Parts: sequence; structure tokens; C-alpha cells
Amino acid sequence: MIPPLSPASTPILPRAVVVTCFDFRLQQALESWLSATLGYANYDRVSLAGSVKDWDAALAQIALAVRLHGVTQACLIAHENCMAYQAEGTYERLTHDLRQARDSLRRDHPELETRLFYQWLDGRFEPIE
Ligand SMILES: [Zn+2]
Repeated sequence: MIPPLSPASTPILPRAVVVTCFDFRLQQALESWLSATLGYANYDRVSLAGSVKDWDAALAQIALAVRLHGVTQACLIAHENCMAYQAEGTYERLTHDLRQARDSLRRDHPELETRLFYQWLDGRFEPIE
């Protein structure tokens, strides 16, 4: 039997699932930004090369987070100079893929509030509409 989740305190923010690239260059800025934005230890983190590039893999993990933890928010993050995309990794391509992923979530998981961000290597997080 899986033990019940025991949060240290009642979360103020809705619990979230985050999809990011696994790139080591992002981690330091990600850690502090995620804690400040989503609440420390208040999110499930899916870390895949290229973030939403392999959407089937990302979606399967998001569906698990919904089913196992009842997350109500999805935060999808792409980043500058993503090596998983190689030469195709332009800002336009990555933000297009983020929007396409959000469209898919709206169809498959309309209960989720989805937010998109583009992470610059200088540590800025740009919201994507
Ligand atoms: Zn990457």
C-alpha cells in the first residue's frame, strides 16, 4: 500500500505538475523560481530532454500526477539553447511546441490550469500566452 502524502503544511497554492528539460544549466535558476512561484515541495517535477518535445512521454507523466496527486495546475517550461532540438531549437519553435502542448492538455485534462514559460539561460522566466 502506498503511504498517504503528508505535506509539512497545508499548501496555499494549488498543487502543480512541472515539465522541464533535464539540462543541468537550468537547475539552479529553476529551483529557486519553482519554489517561489509554486511553493516549496508543492509540485511534481517531470524532467525530460527537450521538456515537451516528446509530448507522449510528458503527457503520460502529467496524467499520473493528476491521478496520483490530484494536481490542478500544469507548468510547462521550454528554454533557450535547448540541445534536444539542436538547430531547430528557435524561440518560435519552442513556444509553438508549448502552445501545442497546452492545446492537448485542454482537450485531455480540462481540469488543469496550464501556464507556459520560456526560460532564458540568464535565469529569466518569460510567460508565454
Ligand atoms: Zn533542453
